[in-house]
Parts: sequence; C-alpha cells; structure tokens
Amino acid sequence: MVVGEVPEMVELLVIGGGPGGYAAAIRGAQLGRQVTLVERDAIGGTCLNVGCIPSKALIEVADLVWRARHGAALGVHAEVTVDMAEVRAHLVQVVDGLVGGVRQLLSASGVTVIKGDARFIRPDRVVVDEGPRVQHLEFDRAVVATGSRPTFPPGLEPDGVHVLDATGVLALERLPASVAVIGGGYIGVELGTALAKLGATVTIIEVADRLLPAMQPSLGRVVTRRLAQLGVTVRTGVAVDEVTATGLVAGGTAIDAEVVVVATGRRPNSDSFGLELTGAVVDERGLVVVDAARRATPHVLALGDLTVGPALAHKAMAEADVAARTAAGLAAAFDPAAVAQVVFSDPEVASVGLTVDEARRAGAVVRTSTFPLTASGRARTLDATYGFVEVVADGDGTVLGVHLAGPHVSELAGEAALAIEAALTTEELAATIHPHPTISEALAEAAQGVRGWALHTVARRGEAPPGGRPA
Ligand code: FAD
Repeated sequence: MVVGEVPEMVELLVIGGGPGGYAAAIRGAQLGRQVTLVERDAIGGTCLNVGCIPSKALIEVADLVWRARHGAALGVHAEVTVDMAEVRAHLVQVVDGLVGGVRQLLSASGVTVIKGDARFIRPDRVVVDEGPRVQHLEFDRAVVATGSRPTFPPGLEPDGVHVLDATGVLALERLPASVAVIGGGYIGVELGTALAKLGATVTIIEVADRLLPAMQPSLGRVVTRRLAQLGVTVRTGVAVDEVTATGLVAGGTAIDAEVVVVATGRRPNSDSFGLELTGAVVDERGLVVVDAARRATPHVLALGDLTVGPALAHKAMAEADVAARTAAGLAAAFDPAAVAQVVFSDPEVASVGLTVDEARRAGAVVRTSTFPLTASGRARTLDATYGFVEVVADGDGTVLGVHLAGPHVSELAGEAALAIEAALTTEELAATIHPHPTISEALAEAAQGVRGWALHTVARRGEAPPGGRPA
C-alpha cells in the first residue's frame, strides 16, 4: 500500500540502527529533538547482531573449552564435549538480550523506530519502504549511519555451506573438522582462533607478510606464536588461487578444508540509497566525506563505518555523540587523540595512540619502555605470560601511545586512551596506584620504565635500565 506522498515531518531522522545510529538517536532525543530512526534489518546493526557481540560470546565459549581441555598442567582433568547447537542458542540469547535492551532505551527516550529501507528522493526527504507500506519522511536534519558490508574477492563469495562469511561462522550449529580462513586481519584471526580452540583444524591465509597487518608488527608476532601453540597453521604472503570442493588452493598448494571462511574486508554502505541526491560527497573508497562536526552537507550528517577512520563500534558511538550535538545546533567536533584498536585474539592485543615509528615520523623525541608479562604476577596466576605492555612517550614524558598484548588487555585500552586524551605523563601514570595482582600493573611498570624506574624488570649488566637511567 502506498500511503501517499504527503510527508511526515521529522526533526532528526536517523538512518541505520547500529551502534552509531542508535547512539545518535538516543543522544538526539536527550538533547530535545523529535527523533525517528529507520532500520531495515535488526536494531543493533552489525555489531550487536553479527559482529562484536556474538563473536566475543563465541570466543569466550571457545576459551572455556580450550582451558578445560588443556588444564592438566594446572591439575585439572576434564572430558569436554561441545554442542554447537547449544552454543549457537547461547549466542542468540546474548544478542537478543542486548538488542532488547537497546529497543527499550530507544523507546524510553521517545525515539520513533520504523522498520524499513530508507532512500533519499530529495535533499530533505526520504522514502521508507516498509514492505507492504511506503512512507515519506521530510527531515530538518538527517544522520546517516548505514554502516558497512563484507566484500568478497571474485570466486570467494559465500555459499552458506562450504564458503562462509563471519555471519555464517557465528551461525554454525556443527563444528567443521577443518577450516581455512582467508584473511589474517582481526576478524579472521578472532574467528580462526575460536574455531581452533573449539577443536577444528585451522589454517589462516593472509596475503600480507604478517598477521594483523594493520597493527604494529610486535603485536602480530605474539599472536602468531600463540596460534602455533594452539595448533593453527598460519600462511602469510600467500594469495588464494581458488576455492575447491575439498578446500582451497593458495600459492599453488592445496589446503584441505571442510569449510572456507572469507574475512577479507568490508566496504561502506554509501551506495544505492540515493545519498548523492543530498549533495554529500563519497570518496573513491565509498566513504562519505564529513567535517569535524560530522556534516556531509548542512542538513546531512554521517558517521560510523560509513566514514573515515577505524571501522569500530566505539568510534561510531563517539561520532554519534558529536553528530547529535551538531544536529541539535550545538558546537561539537570529533577530534580524538586516540581511538583504541583491540583484537580479541589469544592473547588479546590492543593499540592506542602512536607507535614508535609514527611518533618519530611526527617529529617527537621518542622515549619508550616495554614491560614483559613474564614479570607479571597476575599473568602467572592466569598461566598466560605471553605478551607485553609498551608505552611510547615524548621527550617530556607525555604519553603518546600504549601497545598491549596479554590476557584481558582489552580492559586496559580505556585507561591507555584516557592517558593519551588527557596528555598524562608517564610519571602521572606510574604514580597512579594500580591494584595488585592485575595486568594493569604492567602498564604502570612500563610507564615507570620510560624513566628507568621499572620495579620488576632488571636491566642487563652494563646496560641502562629500560628507557634509560633515572632522570
Ligand atoms: P552498522 O552496525 O553496520 O549498522 C548499520 C545499520 O544500518 C545496519 O543495521 C543496516 O541494516 C542499516 N541500514 C543500512 N542501510 C539502510 C537503509 N538504507 N535503510 C535503513 N537501514 C539501513 N567493532 C568493535 O568495535 N569491536 C569489535 O569487537 C568488533 N567485532 C566485530 C566482529 C565482526 C565479525 C564484525 C563483522 C564487525 C566487528 N566490529 C567490531 C565492527 C563493528 O561491528 C562496526 O564497526 C559497527 O557495527 C559500525 O557501526 P555502524 O553504526 O557504523 O554500522
């Protein structure tokens, strides 16, 4: 049924209900706007439904299985069986709980939610296809948060049986005996590690010369070493030639795999919904060009995976805050000193702020210190001493970057970002009392090490302590 072309007037229209869109809608409502959110699929977007949340739930299950099966050295002997259908049901429950929570928040904030596909037909109007119904909405301001979708090289498109994307992996109800993961970025590494810990024989194939090529090499090296301990075969610097009925061929070598997982990248959803009619500019990568206030045009704002920067949920939510303020007529700018990049691999790795190389390129006199987790009491109690914390500071000791590998270091990325955002010095970080025994102590130790004051590492004879002699 076509309701007609008499548009409904909307103060703030949000297109896309992922972390960027729903956060912009709630914040917009808090700022007194009358908000309508249009989502064509599921509230929560990629992150809640098929990304961050179910993948982390699967990683936790896989870790539980692995630790139970390999606890003999700790005196734990267990027979473990895994029912993937029940695991899948658990993932669905986790997702449903969070999606339900976001729905409640939207409703409590007074946001009108429409399930439908939005398409611009004029610079100030969208048509929303709600299946049997079509509705026109005219807006004062629109926030576009349509996210991204996976891309597949030709011949590597998922078929839902032999070739899967990440969404297919998260819906598995039976564990394949063998898996070849194409792509050694964070999604491929996270999923490959989880499948291996659950009991599959896993090969990860990456065309670059190392895993996690977007992060500094030392982080990828820790993960690669650990993957070898987990029995995962890693093949880097190799391109996949073709997928076959029995697996795939990479660099001329056949690799047997019951299931092939393609995790080769994502592209922004900036096409096919008439965005060009608003005057918004899309660059050659498909990213919508915005200013610091998130404006793509005076009336259209954009954020999240649709725009430049790391395609991460917390970046999308931070941008949403700025976009909602701008839409409400307030002065706001997205200009963070650091956006943490975290990989939930084994061990977890995180990169916040500048690497040593980046700091040097930016002209800083760099002081750095690395604290190995072999010297961490907490890491020993966790039986997971692989990893380190590296602090990068400038000549004055101001923290420029923190790079972490180790158990639960994802939980330290926030503190690292705070230190960088607040321009804390290593002395201030070190003078903050970190509770014992925690991995967070390693951050304080690395900060102390920048001035040569680390307590739990010893400089080798004849060498200055890490970071140089005490000033
Ligand atoms: P999305 O979450 O993609 O939401 C966009 C929404 O817009 C979708 O719901 C879509 O249906 C809707 N939409 C699109 N077009 C229209 C239209 N025309 N009309 C109506 N609705 C429309 N990030 C992290 O920070 N941490 C992680 O651990 C993490 N893990 C991930 C694991 C996986 C397997 C994947 C795939 C991603 C992961 N991400 C992670 C990335 C994260 O999911 C994204 O960065 C985040 O979801 C981006 O949010 P967004 O709001 O920009 O877009």
